[in-house]
Formats: sequence, C-alpha cells, structure tokens
Amino acid sequence: MQQPMPPYPHHDPHHPPRRRLTRAEMRRRRRRRAIRRLAVLFCALALVVGGVSFAVTRLASAGPSASAASPAPAEGENMAAGSSQSQAASSAPAAPQNALGLTAAEASAMLADPRMVLVNHQVPMPEDYTFDTKECGSATAINKTLQTEAADAFLEMQAAAAADGITIWMQSGYRSVDYQTTLYNNKTQQFLDQGYDEPTAREMAANVVNPPRYSEHNCGLAADLNCPEYTALEPGFEDTAAFDWLCQHAGDYGFILRYPKGEAAEAVTEITYEPWHWRYVGPENAARINASGLIFEQYIAELQSIAAAG
Ligand SMILES: [Zn+2]
Repeated sequence: MQQPMPPYPHHDPHHPPRRRLTRAEMRRRRRRRAIRRLAVLFCALALVVGGVSFAVTRLASAGPSASAASPAPAEGENMAAGSSQSQAASSAPAAPQNALGLTAAEASAMLADPRMVLVNHQVPMPEDYTFDTKECGSATAINKTLQTEAADAFLEMQAAAAADGITIWMQSGYRSVDYQTTLYNNKTQQFLDQGYDEPTAREMAANVVNPPRYSEHNCGLAADLNCPEYTALEPGFEDTAAFDWLCQHAGDYGFILRYPKGEAAEAVTEITYEPWHWRYVGPENAARINASGLIFEQYIAELQSIAAAG
C-alpha cells in the first residue's frame, strides 16, 4: 500500500516529524496538571495522616495490653525483649520515607548510571557522553545500531518475542550528532527558503527535528520499533500484537515506553504519544521506573530530590 506523502518531504521517512505541543496546548495542560498535582498532594497527605493515626492507635493498644497480660518479666526475658525490639527498630526504618522507597545513595547511584541519562528537547546529551555501538536493526532500518548493551538486550528481546510468534523490528536507533545536525540544518534551510529569518527558522525547525544533542536517539539508547504487519512509525502501531508483547515484556529486557499516551504523560514529555519509541535503561531501572508509574522526566526529578535530601 502506498504511504501518504509525509508533510515534510525531506524528512527521514522512518522517523516521522514529531509533533511538539503548541503553546496554547501547553498552557491548558499545565493548568490541568497543576489541578491534578493538588489532588495527588491531598491524597498523599490523607494517606500519611491515615497511616500515622493507624500506627498511633496500634501502639496505644499494643502497649498496655501486653504489660497487663504478662507478669513483670525476669531480667533475662527483659533483655530478650529489648534485643528483639531493637532488631525490629533497626529493620523498620530501612525503608526510606519517599515515594520511590530509595535511599539517597541509591538515588545518586541511579542518577550516575549512564543508562539513565536524560535527553529531551530541553536537556542536551552531555558533551562527554561516549559509548560503543552495535548493529541490531532490521534490513530496512536507517540507523541500525544502539549502544552495545542496549543492542544485545534488544536482540535478546527480539528472540524472546520470536519464540512467542511475534516479529519485532528495530527501525531507527542511534543517530550520530553529525547526522542530527544535518537533519536539523536541512529543516532550518527549508524555513529560510520560505522567507523566515534565521531565529524563527531555527525555532520552527526545532518543533519538527530536535537540534543536535537534544534527541534521545543521539545517546544510542532509543529504539524505534515496528513489525512486518505495521511498518510505519505511527500511533497505529499500538494496535499490533508486537506492541502488546512489548508492553508486557519490554521492561524485562530493560526498555521503557518513553512517550506514553494521554494528556498527563504528554504534558510531562511535551511529545505526543509514540508507541514505537522505546528507551533502554537496563532491566533493574526499568522495573523500578515501571513500578513507580512515573514518566522518565518525573522519575529523574524524584531521584534528584531524594539524592539532594540525603
Ligand atoms: Zn524515536
């Protein structure tokens, strides 16, 4: 079937222009987000208050009834009771009091993990971020490589999917900063040719193609996936068996859905839903991020506040 002409004919056909939210959309979303945040804060407060009052009630009821039921303990028993209490006391506060259940040291370690690098249209890939790459793309892929660890993880995931009768293709992976520069400059030139001044042309280009270092594909950890039944990188990929399989299993191989569906998610990422774009963070990190229900940007922000508080 003939694909419809993309709106930007010179754009990489395997990586359709990503739609950045308009300013009006952003404002609306920010307002809704603020309301939602207040609601979440209120629920959290209610939980904390409920938890504390529950603990106080339990302590209050456990204390007197224990002393009433048993006679005054002998010295040995007293010591035993004391030691078991201190054991309980030393194991209880081990769970840190934050939403992610991580200590400051654990949060710092996760932030220092190169697989957790945050790259988006506001945060560029660090200048000193280097890595090796390995090929893992499908025959028709434009950019066939990923960071070596991510490529191995992808190949393992692809084999596991195949064993379940599901074919998954890696269609676009690592894009060098040079390649990103070319894409961005070409797009800017198109707007210059239309008569826009340079700053406007650059801003308009940035809404379609991320400037160099501002694309997650530059860090070699982002993979655009598709399948033989749906070869486009478009939202319809979500209706495929391949996408279903990925939603269930990708986390086990260290990949998370980076730009999830829905207004709340899109308000955070400022990128419209991309069911095809998966981000490697490593299996342990993926499990933690998925369990938190947070978007990657939010998770990183949480880690930063936990690490700072430690
Ligand atoms: Zn992508």
